[in-house]
Amino acid sequence: EGTAPPNTIAVVGGGIGGTAATYFLRQLYGSDLQIDLYEPSNVLCGRVATIEIAGRRYESGGSILHPSNRYSKSIAGEFGLRYAERANSLLSFHDGEKFLFRSSEWKIVTIFRLLWTFGFDLIRLHWFTKSYMDMFDLIYNDQKMGHSYTNVHDLLFAVGQDTFINATKVTACKLFAEQEFGKNLIDLVLNGGLLTNYGQTCEVNGFVGAVAMAGIQPGLWSIRGGNNLLCSKLHESSSAHWKQKSVTKVSLSSDGKFSVSTSENEAIYDHVVIASPINRDKNNIDVSTACSKYCPSTKTDLRHYRRTVATFVKGKLNSKKFQCDSLTSCPVIMCTSNSTFFRCRAIGLHLPVDYDNTNGDTIDSAVYKVFSDAPLTKNQLHQLFEASSEIKEADWFAYPLFSPPEQLDSFVLHEGLYYTSPIERAASAIEMSLVSAKNAALLSYNHWYALPRSSSSKTLNDRTEL
Ligand SMILES: Cc1cc2nc3c(=O)[nH]c(=O)nc-3n(C[C@H](O)[C@H](O)[C@H](O)COP(=O)(O)OP(=O)(O)OC[C@H]3O[C@@H](n4cnc5c(N)ncnc54)[C@H](O)[C@@H]3O)c2cc1C
Repeated sequence: EGTAPPNTIAVVGGGIGGTAATYFLRQLYGSDLQIDLYEPSNVLCGRVATIEIAGRRYESGGSILHPSNRYSKSIAGEFGLRYAERANSLLSFHDGEKFLFRSSEWKIVTIFRLLWTFGFDLIRLHWFTKSYMDMFDLIYNDQKMGHSYTNVHDLLFAVGQDTFINATKVTACKLFAEQEFGKNLIDLVLNGGLLTNYGQTCEVNGFVGAVAMAGIQPGLWSIRGGNNLLCSKLHESSSAHWKQKSVTKVSLSSDGKFSVSTSENEAIYDHVVIASPINRDKNNIDVSTACSKYCPSTKTDLRHYRRTVATFVKGKLNSKKFQCDSLTSCPVIMCTSNSTFFRCRAIGLHLPVDYDNTNGDTIDSAVYKVFSDAPLTKNQLHQLFEASSEIKEADWFAYPLFSPPEQLDSFVLHEGLYYTSPIERAASAIEMSLVSAKNAALLSYNHWYALPRSSSSKTLNDRTEL
């Protein structure tokens, strides 16, 4: 649409996807563009958040990043964010009644138990997960070259061809069985990892299964001070104007621009990026008069989001039930089925986001985080903990309820109106939202300058060092 950049672009939703969209748009279009960020909450980062308990803050939403999450890493590096300390815990799998596997403080014993329970499946799992991560890694170079994709299917196909597409069509149970992983690995590690990371069993799609397995590999990291610093830094550097308002409607105006309405007023934009799921469990932004083919709405999108309650407990685990009596001897508990008495998913030990052992912090500053489907009752808490001094809850509609074959929807609601959240149907994670935000910024840029979507020839003003 010319050589000058657009005058104004609105980004709706100030989560990691929305704040990253402001950052990538600024990188691509330069300083003349006015960017407005609509986020009703008084803090940025949506499902990436911290909670205060016993005077310290802990990750309450998106908490772990993988070593191969290149956008998260490069953003952290660019803004001088440091890595947080993580509690060093033993690992266990529990069926709600008893331990099915438990690592030992003695490494040699753990290795023996691992081999006994899983044979060489864990080594195979490492290579299987790595092959997925390596394929996904191609997206960074692809986006650096300016390629953009109109829907989730094409984005996944561009980097993972039929392997990725087929994985979204079958259950993780089936995909892993086809790869000849044994029953113990599927029942314990796959189900345990999925319940911990997605609150669902291996009935989710296979692609999510592979992502969840990456989430239990070594080298996981998070940001010192809180992962939500990623959002504040992205927003700050983009100089987007934050409007603390909830968007009710995005419609097409007669001159081909877009009108963004809140309960109080409306404003006109050249392009709009919606970075918030339009879903009956999340929010309802009316886009019905603006979208062309694919039109998300709370009436048409009947797919649910999975409720996840994170309960933080400053206290002592039930030493009889879990056969341990100190913070360090009690393992991380990954549940293998969520049908047990307390709808168990996972219990982990977490350090405060600003933990600093050089400053006198000790493991005593850690709290337990229990994931469950619903708030825990007093009785359930009593069964898990023999003592507690403070308890707090964060209640989320956390991730899509996955159900293969997944609908790999469009990122383009209308030329100029882009939507990042469909990527969550493949897998929901901080890095996935970053990739989708970059894709939305590229879709906007390629359309504005009439560049081909998947072979942009214009040199990008891309500062991201990858
Ligand atoms: C408990 C939990 C644990 C998780 N663990 C991990 C993990 O360990 N690692 C990982 O990578 N991912 C994890 N995730 C997933 C990850 O947090 C999400 O996939 C990611 O944060 C989604 O970001 P987003 O910006 O796309 O959406 P959101 O974070 O949902 O952001 C959407 C934003 O839009 C705003 N909004 C809503 N309605 C409107 C409106 N009408 N107008 C304007 N704004 C609006 C919301 O307030 C919100 O800030 C976890 C999530 C949860 C809840």
